[in-house]
Amino acid sequence: MALKTREDYLAALRKLRPNIYKFGELIEDVTTHPATKRTVESHALNYDAANDPELEDIYSITSTFTGDKVLRWNSMMQSMEDLIGNMRMKRQNYRRTGSCTGAVCVGWNAMNVMWAVCSEMDQANGTAYQQRLKNWILSAQDKGLTVAGALTDAKGDRSLKPSQQADPDTNLRINEVREDGIIIRGAKLMICGTAASQEIFLLPGSIYGKADQDYSLACVVPRDIEGLTIVEATRPSDRRELEETSVVETPDTGVTQGWLLFEDVFVPNERVFLCKEYKYTAKVIQYFTANYRACIGGCVTGQGDVMIGASVLMARLNGLSAKTFTDKLINMSLNNTVTYGLGAGACALGAKHPSGSYFADPHTAHTNKVMVATLPYEVKRLTQEIGGGIVETGCMPSYKDFTNPQYGHMIRKCLKAGAGSAESRFKAARLSEWLTIGSGVPGCMHGGGSPDGAKLVVRYTTPLEEYAEYARKIINIEEEITEPQKNM
Ligand SMILES: Cc1cc2nc3c(=O)[nH]c(=O)nc-3n(C[C@H](O)[C@H](O)[C@H](O)COP(=O)(O)OP(=O)(O)OC[C@H]3O[C@@H](n4cnc5c(N)ncnc54)[C@H](O)[C@@H]3O)c2cc1C
Repeated sequence: MALKTREDYLAALRKLRPNIYKFGELIEDVTTHPATKRTVESHALNYDAANDPELEDIYSITSTFTGDKVLRWNSMMQSMEDLIGNMRMKRQNYRRTGSCTGAVCVGWNAMNVMWAVCSEMDQANGTAYQQRLKNWILSAQDKGLTVAGALTDAKGDRSLKPSQQADPDTNLRINEVREDGIIIRGAKLMICGTAASQEIFLLPGSIYGKADQDYSLACVVPRDIEGLTIVEATRPSDRRELEETSVVETPDTGVTQGWLLFEDVFVPNERVFLCKEYKYTAKVIQYFTANYRACIGGCVTGQGDVMIGASVLMARLNGLSAKTFTDKLINMSLNNTVTYGLGAGACALGAKHPSGSYFADPHTAHTNKVMVATLPYEVKRLTQEIGGGIVETGCMPSYKDFTNPQYGHMIRKCLKAGAGSAESRFKAARLSEWLTIGSGVPGCMHGGGSPDGAKLVVRYTTPLEEYAEYARKIINIEEEITEPQKNM
């Protein structure tokens, strides 16, 4: 079976029913509209890479089901090597796009998580979810799908559970169970790469109890399914991306985040993998975060690589040697390697689930998430520090002014500094700005969940009593040292 190509992928996207809006406008063709074509291009590069002899080992793998060569992002992750393969692919993606390709990431993780959860549910309850999921994965591998993944609900009041919200639709829920499927309503927000996806894997956004069983659902839907409206979020580089000079002002690649609005969407049974089994939502979140928070090290490191590169270019274009900033560049590299190394460490310390799925070590993975929400911001700060004022937002005129027949020659004089042309300095400055505050920001803070949630897991997986025992024994303290009694 030949791997799908960029052309196959773009043709498949064009066949989908238009259901994505931005600035109130319906986007007829996501592959050409300025608001979505960059995220599509980022994802199309994955198909190029899978068909490129030099990159195919990173972007493709042998199917554990059929023995055929398949796109890596449709594969089962069943070993440490598979998870590290996920990290390598994401780092490479960032190096080639500068940004996030969420639709070859979150859906992939979701299907592997559900492989394990389905097997647990089937064993305990006699259901047949895993076979359904297998059928869908086989078709995803055959069609070479790109699949976004949606967990994050609109949530409403953060102190209340879904069933306690004033509006029951603030979280995606099962509104009706029919013999042939389910009807779902509600919203999932900030879903990466939706516009570039063919399908969307929906998972519960949190751990639920019986009162919230209607919110306990996992299924996969075509991106253009009836009843689903998608609204693209806006960001600082929007205006530039819509202008005709965008080819100079922004990269050809990029990322978008969609708001998914479900109004009575019918999902047939063969696409439903968890339906009200609320007890298993904890497993979904546990397995999902372990692998996602390990592998996100590959993403932020790949973008860090590009930030280092952009900083080297800016130093030279400003007239300075990159060596002037050796200390800062090394600090950027150190931060990169901490997140990559922790991610890879979490993969190495992981374990195989009886279903065959492989999950990273939670303690190390959640530690990585906290680092991912911290260290890249220092790398961004250093990118801005090295580049100078024109790298910070709001300090450099537009390319239309750069080329203005009346005064453009003066702007070009002002921008010519060290090595390279004024135009190259313009472009490198825009790239640094984009990487640090624009579309290139990969969701280090909240993507994959907020760091405080990760810290909670680190707290519960740090055995304080055991460590106190090591300390007590080493210095020969004979008595037990217990927590003080609380004053009543
Ligand atoms: C660039 C980007 C890409 C993303 N891509 C995806 C995607 O592809 N798929 C997807 O499903 N999601 C995606 N997300 C969403 C992401 O998972 C969420 O942003 C994240 O889980 C945090 O949720 P929130 O934004 O609703 O923040 P909130 O939940 O409002 O959190 C805000 C702050 O409040 C704290 N907080 C929240 N609730 C409580 C509480 N009850 N008690 C104490 N503190 C609390 C949090 O720790 C955090 O510090 C993406 C986000 C970003 C920024």
